[in-house]
Amino acid sequence: MIVIGGGLAGLSAGVALAEAGWRVRLFEQRPFLGGRATSYVLPDGEHVDNCQHVTLGCCTNLEDFYRRVGSADKIKFFDRLLFQDPQGRTGEMQAGLLPAPFHMLGSFVTFAPLTLADKYSIGRAIMDILRSKGKPKDLEEAGGISMLEWLRRRKQTRGAMERFWRVVLVSALDEELDRTDARYGVDVFWKGFLSNHTGYRMGVPAVPLAQLYDGCKWEIERRGGEVNLRAPLRAIQLAGGAVNKVEFDGGRRETADAYVFALPHVALADLLSEEFKRLEPALANLDEIRVAPITGVHFWFDREVMREPFLTLLDTTTQWIFNKTALYGKANASPGEKEQYLQLVISASYDLLQKPRQEIIDLCLAEVRQALPAAREAVLTKATVIKEAAATFSPQPGVDRWRPKQETSIRGMFLAGDWTATGWPATMEGAVRSGYLAAEAVLRKAGTPRTFLQPDLPPDGLVRMFG
Ligand SMILES: Cc1cc2nc3c(=O)[nH]c(=O)nc-3n(C[C@H](O)[C@H](O)[C@H](O)COP(=O)(O)OP(=O)(O)OC[C@H]3O[C@@H](n4cnc5c(N)ncnc54)[C@H](O)[C@@H]3O)c2cc1C
Repeated sequence: MIVIGGGLAGLSAGVALAEAGWRVRLFEQRPFLGGRATSYVLPDGEHVDNCQHVTLGCCTNLEDFYRRVGSADKIKFFDRLLFQDPQGRTGEMQAGLLPAPFHMLGSFVTFAPLTLADKYSIGRAIMDILRSKGKPKDLEEAGGISMLEWLRRRKQTRGAMERFWRVVLVSALDEELDRTDARYGVDVFWKGFLSNHTGYRMGVPAVPLAQLYDGCKWEIERRGGEVNLRAPLRAIQLAGGAVNKVEFDGGRRETADAYVFALPHVALADLLSEEFKRLEPALANLDEIRVAPITGVHFWFDREVMREPFLTLLDTTTQWIFNKTALYGKANASPGEKEQYLQLVISASYDLLQKPRQEIIDLCLAEVRQALPAAREAVLTKATVIKEAAATFSPQPGVDRWRPKQETSIRGMFLAGDWTATGWPATMEGAVRSGYLAAEAVLRKAGTPRTFLQPDLPPDGLVRMFG
């Protein structure tokens, strides 16, 4: 069994197949595992994430995967999400005593950055999601409708759009509302905030991302498999409608009973000849799947400037500030006792792609100093900007019709990756789902079916009673 790609999709497929008794040989082009959800060490010894990654309580497969590879205790979960506008008004999202779907009602009613009119319009749209159990009728329209259109039909106020829907959904889906399929947007609210009172809890890694995958290599190798790093795939050979060989850098050729290709769709498309597209028409559409950017900005201050573990900013370019020093705890804190390391995240950062790095640093520093008074006196000792132009696939209306299944009509060829058909947007959860689905497809074909995919969180509270 060969798995190509050591991101979450390849790792979850590899670990599942090793557990099912297959000898897994995993090949990854880079010198480390984790793909887009990883971290590296800077020349000065500082560990930086490619970008801050967070999970939610509703991401049941990612949680299962972390458990399988012994990383579950490296994720800290938080019940309180804090928001702040440029006037310094704050609001929280936190479950109270009421049962789902009303568990957030208390914090919503007192959310200061929204007006009464904003809240009333949001309430009406939320009731529509609730009444339809997450499946409003207009989501079925041919070709899909955008989230912006869905919200316009529900007459949302400008404040509701900018300070509520856009804030939550651009972060969750890495795309602007007019380019987001409403099905994904509604799903975020149904699964994350309405159907179960723990779905919204935010999980943040307490270690640099690469350390979450230490157990993957062990799980594969202790069952007789191998993990090959610095091994870029260069060619896939077909014979008689089946994959019969793969070729790596340096001419190394390998064969196997089955191959899981867990590469980003853009990288896979580059390796496919016309013959693949003839045998499996779904592979002809990969370039219909567009990509969207995320920018991460890393700041090191000479002193503590922030106490909260994270904060969402409203009406600014900076969307999230993560207090990495606090999240890592003492063991992983930056060198220098009092330094503080913050990581800022800007999703769907199209406007920043062409901007010089110094301009981005200046813009974000001004916003941080506006939001955190202690940062005004502090000295910024170091800063870095990481632009990921193809961070995720863009969840544009109707994109699901271009996403191929994990099983293909080419013998021996299976696909995994957040971009394959999982029903989920480009997330770590989506990647793990795709890996589990690919492993299930391999086992089904081999006549030894097994289930790895975990169910969604069950509806609870009043949603269960009336659902
Ligand atoms: C900046 C940023 C922020 C994000 N934030 C979040 C977040 O907060 N929460 C969340 O859930 N998701 C987030 N995501 C999305 C998440 O990282 C991805 O959805 C997920 O990691 C994708 O996993 P994957 O295995 O499908 O793909 P990848 O992680 O891209 O893995 C593919 C692997 O294939 C390897 N590869 C490519 N070509 C070859 C080749 N020729 N030969 C061998 N190997 C090859 C690559 O090196 C890579 O390791 C973020 C993504 C980015 C970029």
